[in-house]
Amino acid sequence: MSMTRRGFLATVGAGSAMGVGGALSAAAQDAPALPKPANGPIVIGSRNALAAATRAVGGMRKGEDPLDAVIRGINLVEDDPNDDSVGLGGLPNEDGEVELDASVMDGRTHKAGAVASLRHIRNPASVAALVMRRTDHVLIVGDGALRFARAHGFQEENLLTDKARRVWLEWKEQHSEHDDWLPPEGTEKKKEFGWKTRIDGSDFTYGTIHVSALTPAGDLVGCTSTSGLSFKIPGRVGDSPIIGAGLFVDNQVGAAGSTGRGEANLQNCSSFLVVELMRQGRTPEEACFEVLRRIAGRTEKRLLNPAGEPGYQLKLYAVRRDGLTGGAAMRPVEAEMVVHDGREAKKLKMKTLYGG
Ligand code: ASP
Repeated sequence: MSMTRRGFLATVGAGSAMGVGGALSAAAQDAPALPKPANGPIVIGSRNALAAATRAVGGMRKGEDPLDAVIRGINLVEDDPNDDSVGLGGLPNEDGEVELDASVMDGRTHKAGAVASLRHIRNPASVAALVMRRTDHVLIVGDGALRFARAHGFQEENLLTDKARRVWLEWKEQHSEHDDWLPPEGTEKKKEFGWKTRIDGSDFTYGTIHVSALTPAGDLVGCTSTSGLSFKIPGRVGDSPIIGAGLFVDNQVGAAGSTGRGEANLQNCSSFLVVELMRQGRTPEEACFEVLRRIAGRTEKRLLNPAGEPGYQLKLYAVRRDGLTGGAAMRPVEAEMVVHDGREAKKLKMKTLYGG
């Protein structure tokens, strides 16, 4: 039997058991059935995604392109100077410069776009969408991403708010006694802003917005946007703009995204794996837990607490094509997610792999 490469891929992609050779037919027949299609809008997102989820569902109901509806929801948080984990007001790198990462993925086309280490542009999610729609690339970084954004008319601005600058300065002056930066006399060890302490004793803050959506037409789209790890080494790229790590969408199965320690997702292709486990029949929550268990089992010693558990936070969120949503978190700290069931958006507590 002859078949073009494109035809072959279409057959495999459809999970069809139709004959393209015995072994493949058998494998296809053994594969669990794909989730039944359902119609949204249904949205899942990170704990800071309440307004974004509401905006996304409202836009989809009004007939907006669903990925644009999700991105406009995320833009609200990117524009919010009080969210220090995303866009304007995001915490800067160790030099005090805000560097943003974002990705989008559209299940209808299986196309993706992303930017990383983007400076001076408050809406990296919108720039990521243009990378997907207006280039033949998937990921543009650094100065190239800024020039690309400029070409599309994005305004450059100082993204470092006075509050974020003061948090950074406090970190700069207090995180080490072995440099020349000194806190104001009498304030040593007093943290006005209380940036969090990582398990190894160094001070970093994580934070990101993620939104995945099942659309009214039963398609899947997703977006993740972040200022990344605070006080990072300049040029450090996290999981958020990496397709398969901080975001993955497969229109046949579901969508997944993540917030928390990006390095763990980069090492484990977490969002891709969540979707693959859903393909194999797991619920979103089961898939997220299985990925967290694998990550925990591979965590290097310096990141384990005295009980031998990962000391860092990592949260996974997923929606299956049949409309089922679920998530899981490594630890209880801020273990919340947002789910919009089409009627209202709610912040829900997440189950966690470890307590305490
Ligand atoms: N995952 C993001 C990163 O590693 C940060 C976060 O979600 O807190 O860049």
